[in-house]
Amino acid sequence: MALFSKPIKTLDDLFVHTLQDIYYAENQIVKTLPTMIEKASNPELKSAFQQHLRETEHQVTRLETVFGMVGQPVKAVTCAAMDGIIAEAKEVIGDCSDAEVLDAAMLCSAQAIEHYEMTRYGSLTAFARQLGKGDVAALLHETLEEEKATDHKLAEIAKTRVNQIAA
Ligand code: FE
Ligand code: FE
Ligand code: FE
Repeated sequence: MALFSKPIKTLDDLFVHTLQDIYYAENQIVKTLPTMIEKASNPELKSAFQQHLRETEHQVTRLETVFGMVGQPVKAVTCAAMDGIIAEAKEVIGDCSDAEVLDAAMLCSAQAIEHYEMTRYGSLTAFARQLGKGDVAALLHETLEEEKATDHKLAEIAKTRVNQIAA
């Protein structure tokens, strides 16, 4: 068991823990995206990052609403996975010497972030439904759809532009 974390006995405990995990992850993404926006050269990539930063800020607020709906204090628990994805992104960003290749690398890292989020919001939506919290499930599903749309958009920018230019 991780230090200072509460034991997880029920599906309800697991739901709250996962909520705290993604709350931490979203906040880390809010802190990381400005650097990616600043370093992006391709205008479409830059604007996709900008749009998703605004969306992510809204997702943080939406999670705070969910904490309220389930009668829990707003709390974050360290998400080792998101810390790892972001650390890896920073490492590869630091190693890229070519601006176009850097765009491709950041896009690749951004998709890793979206995929992690998709697994979490998918599970959270399923847990909420199972626990009979349909209104909470609906809110979490909204975010899931935003993450999926972002992933598709990034994949499209990669295939049609950024990867070609980098090659
Ligand atoms: Fe998000
Ligand atoms: Fe996590
Ligand atoms: Fe996202």
